[in-house]
Amino acid sequence: MVHQYKNNGYNIVLDVNSGAIHVVDDVSYDVISLFEAHTKEEIVAELKNQYKEEEIKEAYDEVEELKEAKELFTPDEYEDYITEFKQRKTVVKALCLHIAHDCNLACRYCFAEEGEYHGRRALMSYEVGKAALDFLIANSGSRRNLEVDFFGGEPTLNFQVVKDLVKYGREQEKIHNKNFRFTLTTNGVLLDDDIMEFANKEMSNVVLSIDGRKEVNDYMRPFRGGQGSYDVIVPKFKKFADSRNQNNYYVRGTFTHHNLDFSKDVLHLADLGFKQISVEPVVAQETDDYAIRKEDLPQLFEEYDKLAAEMVRRHKEGNDFNFFHFMIDLEGGPCVAKRLSGCGSGTEYLAVTPWGDLYPCHQFVGNEKFLLGNVTEGIKNTEIRDEFKSCNVYAKEKCKSCFARFYCSGGCAANSYNFHGHINDVYEVGCELEKKRVECAIMIKAALADETN
Ligand code: SF4
Ligand code: SF4
Ligand code: SF4
Repeated sequence: MVHQYKNNGYNIVLDVNSGAIHVVDDVSYDVISLFEAHTKEEIVAELKNQYKEEEIKEAYDEVEELKEAKELFTPDEYEDYITEFKQRKTVVKALCLHIAHDCNLACRYCFAEEGEYHGRRALMSYEVGKAALDFLIANSGSRRNLEVDFFGGEPTLNFQVVKDLVKYGREQEKIHNKNFRFTLTTNGVLLDDDIMEFANKEMSNVVLSIDGRKEVNDYMRPFRGGQGSYDVIVPKFKKFADSRNQNNYYVRGTFTHHNLDFSKDVLHLADLGFKQISVEPVVAQETDDYAIRKEDLPQLFEEYDKLAAEMVRRHKEGNDFNFFHFMIDLEGGPCVAKRLSGCGSGTEYLAVTPWGDLYPCHQFVGNEKFLLGNVTEGIKNTEIRDEFKSCNVYAKEKCKSCFARFYCSGGCAANSYNFHGHINDVYEVGCELEKKRVECAIMIKAALADETN
């Protein structure tokens, strides 16, 4: 399977199965599009009004050479991986600990109902957190690196428990030959020197939530009284990011139907000095006024194109930044093993409520249908776990013919559930955006390689 497209002045050809990427001239681009279904003579006849006959023949011969070198039109071998994947034993690699079901902000798109959690506000106790870490160790098999995200609501509302759990984790990792990688996800309101110092010592990563421009952030991420959070959090986030040497963190925003011009938000964050940036489409119910809709796609595609072109420009100026969603691993080609498990929700990655209940991820917390078990008794609902296990890019019919399948994590199960009522489908709007991101990411690589040549 070959996917070809034009972006930012480049003619790009991706050989999907080998992962080979070719930047080609116009004649080769047109020859490739006709190659599989036509003979050399037919292609010459078809293109002779646009190019010289010699050029067309030369391009044809080059395409044939690439095919022989297994860099174009390579066969599809993914079926084997489906079988391998289904036989794999699942180990738990990561937990998202809901340290506080409470929040000092009232974000409009909050999965936690603006921190209210169906009226059941709660803080995780040290005992529940300890049991969660024990559960993770016990279910991690031979895997050494284990991820724990201190999440919320807002985890700094219960920060002593975070500190105590890190201490406990550090003791346990020695006993069990594990290595905990802790992450703190915070809205920044309570960030102070003490939290920053602790995080810089213990957290492998910190995720700092901000949506971008002041008006965008303040509309979606207000305090409960309605006032915006931007002015409170920006100085703290800047200080925090600098104190980590602009590494091992990212500012993370969400774009919605209300800021379809989100490239401006990404660039605003870059202009504030942030070097690690993630701005993602919202996960929402179809009925939410801020949900992304099909008719928003053309504008969103343009935004990704604009952003990618601007990133190339800034790179040339030595003023670059990382945009999480364009960071796909192209060097190693499509490493199937790495991309098999998708986001891992429900299998390798689980969310833990303040009471110790286990859910596939934070988006499913509170929906009893998805209650998997709890940290003391383990996974009880193996049916749901297995449903999530089979929910990956290799098991979905629509993914089999998708050019992005080796770079895609298989889409978001929560979005599939919100739009289709079950997790096994693909969420079309998300797919279109994913495909666009893959195209942009490849273009950026091509442009940077071009620069070094
Ligand atoms: S900061 Fe997070 S938990 Fe709090 S209201 Fe916003 S999205 Fe919800
Ligand atoms: S973009 Fe959609 S169809 Fe393509 S691989 Fe990902 S989930 Fe599947
Ligand atoms: S299901 Fe969706 S929201 Fe949940 S972890 Fe996966 S990608 Fe994220």
